[in-house]
Amino acid sequence: MNENLICQCCGMPLNEEELFSREADGSVNKDYCKWCYADGKFAYESKESLLDFLVANMPDPEGRPDDERRAMYDGWLSQLKHWKQA
Ligand SMILES: [Zn+2]
Repeated sequence: MNENLICQCCGMPLNEEELFSREADGSVNKDYCKWCYADGKFAYESKESLLDFLVANMPDPEGRPDDERRAMYDGWLSQLKHWKQA
């Protein structure tokens, strides 16, 4: 079992080996999920593009407005290593 790893780009729990991203040479990178980082490249060029994706695709059982959800995701992403210095 893996320790409590999460993707440092989108915050998804990385609790299965197959969710880890891989470098272009095929080696495992445990900092990111396979959707955020593949073959040495990031899927999201900016936090804004990831926020667009999350607001459009993440279900919200409480039905909050998009701008409120965007601010919530922004606060959450800002704690992850990939976005901290941005
Ligand atoms: Zn990710």
